[in-house]
Parts: sequence; structure tokens; C-alpha cells
Amino acid sequence: MEDCVFCKIARGEFPSARVYEDQKCLAILDINPVTPGHTLVMPRAHYATLAETPTELVQALAGLFGRVSEAVVKAVSAEGFNLFAANGRCAGQVIDHLHFHIVPRHPNDGVFPGWTASSYAEGEMEKLRAQISRQL
Ligand code: ZN
Repeated sequence: MEDCVFCKIARGEFPSARVYEDQKCLAILDINPVTPGHTLVMPRAHYATLAETPTELVQALAGLFGRVSEAVVKAVSAEGFNLFAANGRCAGQVIDHLHFHIVPRHPNDGVFPGWTASSYAEGEMEKLRAQISRQL
């Protein structure tokens, strides 16, 4: 898309710190890192969300996750990492061009402190399992 900053980066019209690129995909450093080494893996082609992205392109992206995350972890001497994509405004998506975050993690780094788990009421889990399964 014309105005999309990630499309501009993919076309070389906007600067980025590229750690990897091939014909279909790019990996760049996030300019506002959660922790140093925070990397974004994205397709060159513009798709807003995971659901809109062709399966073969999702497979190409997924094929990079292990390799890029291992390189990031080694480079910053992290002990682990988080991998996620934000899909939709309510999930925190800011740029409508699919991208996956690789966030290197260190002990007691204070990242994502608000993520708490809950539990299901009796029967709720089976109801949701059936609802999700029917959509597939
Ligand atoms: Zn784009």
C-alpha cells in the first residue's frame, strides 16, 4: 500500500535496520524496542492481518521464527524470547501490515507484567471448544 510504512521499508523507501531479508520476507529491528534486539518479522507484501495473509506466505514467515529468534537471543545474550503478532486495534496492532514481534527476554525484566491467567466456569471450556472447532 502507498502510505504503509512497512511497505515503504520493504521497497527501500524508508530506512530500517534489516537483520534478514529474502524474496518474500524481512526482519528488522523495532525502532521502539521493548528490550534491546526486539525484532519484527514481516512479509514484503501488504496484508493487514494473519487471516488475510496467504498460507504459503505464513509458512515462509513461520519458517524464519526459529532461526531469527535464535540469532536475536544469541546476539543480546537473552535467556528466552516472546513471539507474537498483534491483530486488530484492541490487541495493540498499530501498523496494519502483518508483523511478528520477537522480544528477547531476561530474568526479572518486567516485560508484560499485567498478563494474568484466569479460569473457566463449569462447562464454559467445552462450549468454547465446540464454537472454535466449528469455525475451522
Ligand atoms: Zn504494508
